[in-house]
Amino acid sequence: MRLCDAQAGTTCPTLQAFSLATGTQIPALGLGTWELRGGAQTVSIALGLGYRQIDTSGDYGTQPAVGKAIRESRVPRDDIFLVTKVEETEDGYEATKDRLRELGLERADLVLIHRPPPTGAGESLWEGLIRARQEGLTREIGVSNYSIEQVDAVTSATGERPAVNQIEWSPFGHSAAMLRHCRDRNVLIQAYSPLTRTERLDDPVLTEIGDGHAKTPAQVLIRWNIQLGTNPLPKASTREHLEENIAVFDFELSDNEMDRLSGLNERYSALAGLAYA
Ligand code: NAP
Repeated sequence: MRLCDAQAGTTCPTLQAFSLATGTQIPALGLGTWELRGGAQTVSIALGLGYRQIDTSGDYGTQPAVGKAIRESRVPRDDIFLVTKVEETEDGYEATKDRLRELGLERADLVLIHRPPPTGAGESLWEGLIRARQEGLTREIGVSNYSIEQVDAVTSATGERPAVNQIEWSPFGHSAAMLRHCRDRNVLIQAYSPLTRTERLDDPVLTEIGDGHAKTPAQVLIRWNIQLGTNPLPKASTREHLEENIAVFDFELSDNEMDRLSGLNERYSALAGLAYA
């Protein structure tokens, strides 16, 4: 994935973006909102700080707050990249309309199948999302928690490749095979729980590398993702954390540091295991 400045010469971090297969630009950093505290006010603070991608879902309970903050923001709607999700038990098309009703918005920018159904790869759900995109309810569609085989299955069944696969992803839990597969096919990996839900922030390697750049362990984790070409979605409820997490565009990890971080991989998961591995 190519990381580019949408406007050369600007120092605004939010203009750093990845290109999706269609050429759509997606902000290099997103705000996660699962268990977000502070509701619309927190999202408004994030928008004010320069966040331009927000990740939500019907089952997070944060859609009304996200929608309110976006509707009331002075940031133009087209400058905000909104991600939401449909559940594996739903009809993809109807569920997309339902999400938009709850958000109070005309369209999303990316709608994901939250997780694969117990059997198959969710081909009919995917057909529903294709229809939603054709009708302008979303610009892009993708999947979440999919294995390599499931990404391929949904693609070959419909001829439409997901724009992204949103999966748990950190130096402690990632997959070289998944990274290669997605890079080769121009599928962006979106990294959820990129801060390991705080569980590994005290790792000495993060501290050592961070100290060398006057950065925190959280900033090192976020920067590792961006340099790898994967799209981190850290969740933060406090202004302090929001400010810290977006201050990652003024330093660069060396190749050696990137390798050290990637070498921490132990297929670690802060949740119920790496769904894709
Ligand atoms: P995370 O982003 O790895 O960690 C969130 C935790 O880190 C919160 O406790 C937060 O505290 C804390 N934090 C934030 N910035 C910090 C900093 N600079 N220093 C220290 N602590 C910091 O975990 P996550 O929420 O599981 O994942 C991120 C997002 O990914 C979710 O919110 C959601 O949008 C998405 N997600 C998607 C799926 C899926 O199945 N597709 C699954 C899980 C998550 P405060 O809130 O107190 O600031």
